Amino acid sequence: MSLNIQSEIDIMKVASSKINEVDFENLTFGNVFTDHMLVCDFKEGAWQKPAIKPYEPFLLDPSAKVFHYGQAIFEGMKAYKTEDDSVWLFRPDENYIRFNKSAERMCMPEVPESVFLDGLKELLKIEKDWVKKGKGNTLYIRPFMIAIGSGVVAQPSTQYRFMIILSPARAYYSGEVKVLVADYYSRAANGGIGAAKAAGNYSGQFYPTKLANEQGFQQVIWTDDSTHTKLEEAGTMNVFFRINDTLYTAPTSERILDGVTRKSLIDLAKREGIHVDVRPVLVSELVEGAKNGTLKEIFGAGTAAVVNPIVGFSYQDTYYELPKIENSMALALKEKLTNIQYKLAEDTFGWTV
Ligand code: PMP
Repeated sequence: MSLNIQSEIDIMKVASSKINEVDFENLTFGNVFTDHMLVCDFKEGAWQKPAIKPYEPFLLDPSAKVFHYGQAIFEGMKAYKTEDDSVWLFRPDENYIRFNKSAERMCMPEVPESVFLDGLKELLKIEKDWVKKGKGNTLYIRPFMIAIGSGVVAQPSTQYRFMIILSPARAYYSGEVKVLVADYYSRAANGGIGAAKAAGNYSGQFYPTKLANEQGFQQVIWTDDSTHTKLEEAGTMNVFFRINDTLYTAPTSERILDGVTRKSLIDLAKREGIHVDVRPVLVSELVEGAKNGTLKEIFGAGTAAVVNPIVGFSYQDTYYELPKIENSMALALKEKLTNIQYKLAEDTFGWTV
């Protein structure tokens, strides 16, 4: 049951907005935040009253568990503005469900829908001017939860803070992306936390990604940890491979994040009559396809970039360049998906909220 959030939320507004100081034409991803944030604390076994208040730093005890044991999870989603000035979310229920799955895996309390979803909608009403019109303009939404209970004892906290912060963003273009296929380091393991959006999954990738960057690759495509023969996902994206005219992507598992973009692209591609095969894809198939020319495209799929075409990959010191392609499935699917997100095409799936 959804609470009447107006009466259930404390709202403290800023005296004056900083929106006029922001150069919306030259935003770098994730660096500018809106005037307000949502905060809700969990203590003594219960969620307290949420508040929307001015965006500002806060104090924590140096022994807070988040600093020592990394008990922290997050989500990433976006809001879009249409020509009639209405603001839309894309499948927010998926992020909400995934957030609570991450919470369970990290021994954190489930966040109520009234705090996550109704709280987000209330925050967006206040910050609607920060969502700019025009395809490519979005407001990136970062819900997160951290363990704020104190004490350097390695056990779950009894106190948590759930927050939502918002960051205006332009269309994300990362230039030509070349990837390194992992043959030693791993992102996740069976029985681990790969399927959770846990902070540690990301910090664990920094070092191998840095090594890949030094070799001229922007990202790593992770492979299964036990044999390094099956392709899994990239840093913050699921990956698709087009061999001839079939799209392949790995099934989600306890090692792979169940991406909202991934599942939406699968549905869209099927609707377009594209054959999609969800099954483990072998590194050897990729190498073979690159050698005999049947591998046409590789692309990452995730909220930030939507679809990120990959121009080539390296595996065990050999670099394979993909052919330049005329009718890119990646770009066609991106166009279809963003048209739905910006309400420029009919949303027959009922994804926009
Ligand atoms: N994999 C990982 C590890 C990610 O962090 C993300 C970004 N959330 C994705 C895949 C893509 O998920 P989504 O499409 O829901 O953004």
